Amino acid sequence: MGGCDDSTTTSWAYGTQAFRIQNAPISDSGGSSATVTACAMLLDAPVIPFPRALLPPPQKSTPPAFYIANAGPSKGAGLFAACDIPAGDAILSDRPVAVVPSNVNAPWKREAFDALLPRISRISRDALLALANCKPLSEYPVVEGIALTNAIQVHLPVSSSAAPQEYGGVFPTVSRANHSCGLNTAVKWDLSSFSVTLYALRPVRAGEEIHIQYVDVFAPRAERRAQLARYGFECICPHCDLPDADAVARSDAARAELRDWRHLHPRFLPWSTDMCRADDDIIVSNLRALALVKQEGLYGMQVPFIEEIALSYAVLGDELRFREWAQQVVDLCAGQDPERASKFTGWMAEPQSYKEWGWRAKQRLLLDRQKPPVDVDISIPW
Ligand SMILES: [Zn+2]
Repeated sequence: MGGCDDSTTTSWAYGTQAFRIQNAPISDSGGSSATVTACAMLLDAPVIPFPRALLPPPQKSTPPAFYIANAGPSKGAGLFAACDIPAGDAILSDRPVAVVPSNVNAPWKREAFDALLPRISRISRDALLALANCKPLSEYPVVEGIALTNAIQVHLPVSSSAAPQEYGGVFPTVSRANHSCGLNTAVKWDLSSFSVTLYALRPVRAGEEIHIQYVDVFAPRAERRAQLARYGFECICPHCDLPDADAVARSDAARAELRDWRHLHPRFLPWSTDMCRADDDIIVSNLRALALVKQEGLYGMQVPFIEEIALSYAVLGDELRFREWAQQVVDLCAGQDPERASKFTGWMAEPQSYKEWGWRAKQRLLLDRQKPPVDVDISIPW
C-alpha cells in the first residue's frame, strides 16, 4: 500500500479551488512509491484524505466472465460475456488508473493533466494510453481526451465546505464496454474498495456484447445522438436503429413515460391503505412499467417496480406470488444492493414479519361483511 499523502507542493488554483496531484492508496503489480502510483488523482484540496488501507476489490470470477474483442468496424474493441451470466451477478471489478475533475476549464489544464502521466506506474500508464481517445491531441491533453472518452463518475469523500466538484475515473477494463441505449449491465462505484463493479441487469448470454451507458438514456433519440456525437459516433443500437418515425416516437414516448413514472402513476404507499382503489392497481401499473423497461432495454430501473409488485402481494397476503417477486429482488440486488436483498430475504423467511402483511386482505374481508345483504331475485323466469 502506498501512502495517500504526497510530497509535491504544486497546486493549481481554480476559483476557490486548489487542485493538486495525489496518489490513490493502491498499488499494482509494479508496486508504488511516493511519486509513482497505480492511480494518480488530480483533486481539489478539500477532498478528505483517503483511509490508508482500502479494501481489496470484490473477487473476480475465475476464469473471467468477460473477454475483450473487436465489436465491429465502427465500434472498435468491446467487452463480451465469456459465459452465461445470471441477472444480478457481478461480471468484473476494476480500479481506476487516473481520477480527474470534470468541467474544469482553466489555463493550467494541460500542465496539470500532463503532470499526471509521470505519476502513474508503467503498468497503469500503458493501460491508460491503450484506451480510445476521441479528442484531438492538439486541443486536449492526452489524459483529458482519454477521460472525456472513457471516464465514469466516481464519488469521493469531499469535506462539506468544499464546492461540489465532480470527478471521473478512467478504468482500463470497464472503459472497454461500448455504449447502448438499452443496457444489460450497471456500473457501481465503491469507495471502500476504490473500484467499480459491473453487474448484469438481466441474464446475459455467452458471446453477447456487454454495454454501459455514456449518455442519458431517458432522453429522446435525437438528443441522445447529439450527445453521442461528442464521442465521435452515431449510435446504431437496436433502440436507435429504428425503421421509421413512428417507431422513434413510440420509443421516445416510452422513455419519457418511464423517466416521469413516479409523477404520473399511482404510488404504493397511498394505495396500500386506500380501500377505494382496486386491489391490483399497483400491480397492473408496475407490470406496464416493466413491459416498457423490457421494450426499451432500460433494465437499470426495474428493481423498484419489481419491489412494489412484491410488496403489493405482501399487503394482499398472497404468499406464493409475493415469494415469486421477492426472489427476483433478492437475485437482482444480492451484489449491487445487499441491504435491500437481505430485507427481502428476511420477509421471505417469515412473511408475517412484513408489518403490513395481508392488511388489504383483512380490510377487504371486513368490508365485504359490512355490505348490506344482496337482494335475492326469487322471481321465476317463466
Ligand atoms: Zn442507441
